[in-house]
Amino acid sequence: MGKTTGFLEFKRKDESYAPAKERVKNYNEFTKPLNQTELRNQGARCMDCGIPFCHSGCPLGNLIPDFNDAVYQGKWEKATKILHSTNNFPEFTGRLCPAPCEEACVLGINEDPVSIENIEKNIVETAFKNGWITANTPPKRTDKKVAVIGSGPAGLAAAQQLNRAGHTVTVYERDEKIGGLLRYGIPDFKMEKNVIDRRLAILEEEGIIFKTGVHVGVDIKADDLKKEFDAVVLCGGATIKRTLPIPGSDLKGVVQAMDFLPQNNRRVDGVKDLGEELVATDKDVIVIGGGDTGSDCIGTSIRHGANSVSNFEIMPMAGTERPVDQPWPFWPMRLRTSSSHKEGAERFFSISTKKFIGDENGNLTGLITSEVKWQPVPGQRPKLTEVAGTEKEWKCQLALLALGFTGSETTLADQFGLEFDERTNIKASESNYKTNIPGVFVAGDQRRGQSLIVWAISEGRQAAYHIDTYLMGKSNLPLKGEGDLPRI
Ligand SMILES: Cc1cc2nc3c(=O)[nH]c(=O)nc-3n(C[C@H](O)[C@H](O)[C@H](O)COP(=O)(O)OP(=O)(O)OC[C@H]3O[C@@H](n4cnc5c(N)ncnc54)[C@H](O)[C@@H]3O)c2cc1C
Ligand code: SF4
Repeated sequence: MGKTTGFLEFKRKDESYAPAKERVKNYNEFTKPLNQTELRNQGARCMDCGIPFCHSGCPLGNLIPDFNDAVYQGKWEKATKILHSTNNFPEFTGRLCPAPCEEACVLGINEDPVSIENIEKNIVETAFKNGWITANTPPKRTDKKVAVIGSGPAGLAAAQQLNRAGHTVTVYERDEKIGGLLRYGIPDFKMEKNVIDRRLAILEEEGIIFKTGVHVGVDIKADDLKKEFDAVVLCGGATIKRTLPIPGSDLKGVVQAMDFLPQNNRRVDGVKDLGEELVATDKDVIVIGGGDTGSDCIGTSIRHGANSVSNFEIMPMAGTERPVDQPWPFWPMRLRTSSSHKEGAERFFSISTKKFIGDENGNLTGLITSEVKWQPVPGQRPKLTEVAGTEKEWKCQLALLALGFTGSETTLADQFGLEFDERTNIKASESNYKTNIPGVFVAGDQRRGQSLIVWAISEGRQAAYHIDTYLMGKSNLPLKGEGDLPRI
């Protein structure tokens, strides 16, 4: 498995990036791939450690040491088959996953972990280049029809798995194009949208029916779905945006990140009629929220030509090392610096926004903050307190609220009579993805709350297994941990 002494011989090597000054001139991806020898050496670093903790670090249960070994041996087609046995869309995760597998890699205990995510991306890109990824239509069709509501990674994974089981699958999407947050959340500089289109062409060829511009619950009601389909899986995401209800939040210039980013992705896609233009050009921009969405707002604002970009995070600055109370192989809370952060944003931590300030025309001109402290409370969440005398006024003409999401929409769920959990997600157990209504399932962010692409794909795959079992009494679809090693 791998090269026995590979981890001693080769250091981790990551892809380099085009210089920030160059890459911010457009919205293209900017990573520079390693060559084949370098990639094989990276695969050789995998230690065959006996118990591959990376498997359980990956929410898909990807068979990581096996594809690493295949890459080391230059058997790229074999690696492709291994990878696709557990992951429908490695081209998404290979670009966008925060790689919890790498935090669980045994080599990572005292060395840099194996560069699993980059190996994954290169396996799938090699496969596309060589024409190894082709439509796989089911040998025969059942008489069952399934509706998938929502075309993000959860919906697409569920659709492909259910189609493989022979069911006739229709994916409904209210946006004009397929992809969910892959298309309208994540900026092109993180993933160009031809990556989605390339995969979509295969899904269509496999026989999945896509209907865009259909808002289920409005254009089609739950009763219509119940009549037409044998099962329904809701993959509508966690779309309710968290607000910041402080004075001045209605000023012109206080904008939700998830209005700003989707508009920009449409602009990059060549859409002309965008309504009120939300642009950062020549503005002092403050991005409130330090997560992925905040980071994407930074990269986008810089590409617009913002005058300055600052980023506020209410939590304290984490260290760069793994905290002692979050030992290997768990996912540690540590400071993560994205490529967008490095493009010219200044980051501020332990800071809370108290008030937006505007001019007489209702335009945002600045905001007021206070520093905050988090005090530990035994057995409870830490308590937030303001530090007296730390009020500060900041100049800004655009404030982007990147505060996350508070759960699922209710229109369609109410038509079905679905129950919600205490976090306003649709209630369904992770053991079978069944809601309280027979034949209605839920997967992805709409079930687990805002999360990750890798989790959405995993949930879509798992839900498909349980839907197939519900329809047919049993299922041959794989469950997590049952990836099938191809014999090549
Ligand atoms: C800006 C941003 C950046 C992110 N970056 C990353 C990242 O780098 N890495 C990562 O792993 N994760 C990232 N995430 C999180 C990740 O995108 C989500 O966890 C993932 O997309 C969830 O997938 P999903 O299929 O459950 O839902 P979504 O991707 O949200 O897709 C849901 C789809 O359902 C459609 N829909 C909803 N209701 C209806 C209806 N009634 N009728 C028809 N269609 C409907 C929506 O239009 C949408 O297209 C990011 C999220 C955001 C917002
Ligand atoms: S999907 Fe994410 S966690 Fe799984 S192997 Fe790939 S990078 Fe690692």
